[in-house]
Amino acid sequence: MKTYKCMATCAAGIEALVGKEIRNLGIDCQVENGRALFTGTMADIAKLSLWLRTADRIKIILAEFEARTFEDLFDQVYDIAWEDILPLDANFPVSGKSIKSKLFSVSDCQALTKKAIVERLKKFYHRYGRLPESGAKFPIEVAIRKDKVMITLDTTGDSFFKRGYRTEKGGAPLKETLAASLVMLTNWRADMPLVDLTCGSGTILIEAAMMALNIAPGLKRTFLCETWPFVDQNIWGQARKEAYQAQKLDQQLDILGTDIDHKMIEIAKANAQKAGVADYITFKQMRLQDFTTTKENGVIICNPPYGERLSDKAQVEQLYKEMGQVFAPLTTWSKYILTSDLQFEEFYGSKATKKRKLYNGALRTDYFQYWAQRNNR
Ligand code: SAH
Repeated sequence: MKTYKCMATCAAGIEALVGKEIRNLGIDCQVENGRALFTGTMADIAKLSLWLRTADRIKIILAEFEARTFEDLFDQVYDIAWEDILPLDANFPVSGKSIKSKLFSVSDCQALTKKAIVERLKKFYHRYGRLPESGAKFPIEVAIRKDKVMITLDTTGDSFFKRGYRTEKGGAPLKETLAASLVMLTNWRADMPLVDLTCGSGTILIEAAMMALNIAPGLKRTFLCETWPFVDQNIWGQARKEAYQAQKLDQQLDILGTDIDHKMIEIAKANAQKAGVADYITFKQMRLQDFTTTKENGVIICNPPYGERLSDKAQVEQLYKEMGQVFAPLTTWSKYILTSDLQFEEFYGSKATKKRKLYNGALRTDYFQYWAQRNNR
């Protein structure tokens, strides 16, 4: 089967997790800023699309070259064997970006790339008029950085974070990809208790349950490259079948989600139901301040409000203080808190064992980690 040079793109800061996921799926890769590079067949792309929990999308890298003039760009785009990928009726929007390059006009680069592809296809398909562009979609990007051009083709469509289980999300939901990353960055394993005391729409816990049950995150949705004529449908059928068979649903999990807002608990329950993990998570309305437990060796993950608006600041500081008080006696538990509040540790009342910079969308946050004292697992 033909192989393609590809990249799995992701948010800054979680490249290593994406790299680890790809390797765990049996594919070698190289991690760079914001992406992991690998070579794979359409079957590999199908498998990764179904299974990757932390990446945003997979793009095929069609060509890389240097270009300082429009002629350079046109000729080298024209040289790509577009007819191997694009059918006569392909709908191929071209997007672009340019950083620190001679060819700085993005709209001109886009238009020229489009023109080169159109010319090549017209010649191949013996067409003289306009191409119909009425068929499957092939989103192409021309990305130029320091005069180095990369021409890519998106295979994913809607970003991987759109798993298809979250229809309602409340005010400040985490992307599913970030929620999965938060779980992966903890020491949690399926035989340990897991708690989220500000669970909102339940994203972190739903992702955790799906991981523990080995449910592929992409099983409930489709991907753009499935609609491409040259992609063998059996590949996708096979990848989905394998993913269904890989599920390990006969497990007991000890997962609890609570939130002060009863509406969020209803939403979390509905989302867990859609994701197929409702039987494995207990959701209930409760204030974080009221949490106690006699269990040991558990993990707490929280994505509390950040107090970005001035009016909320005092309330959030009080919540962090209470969090410190509630968590302090739980010495065998590891606690992980994501917030953009740089003073978090002061309010919480102790220094984190470790902090990790992460981006929640465009917002810079820190993942404050308090490791268990007697966690010898
Ligand atoms: N990770 C969640 C979003 C959490 S937003 C998701 O993906 O949907 C923060 C949540 O903290 C909100 O749902 C809010 O209701 C809750 N919250 C605020 N103060 C709280 C408190 N004192 N106790 C429990 N939950 C609280």
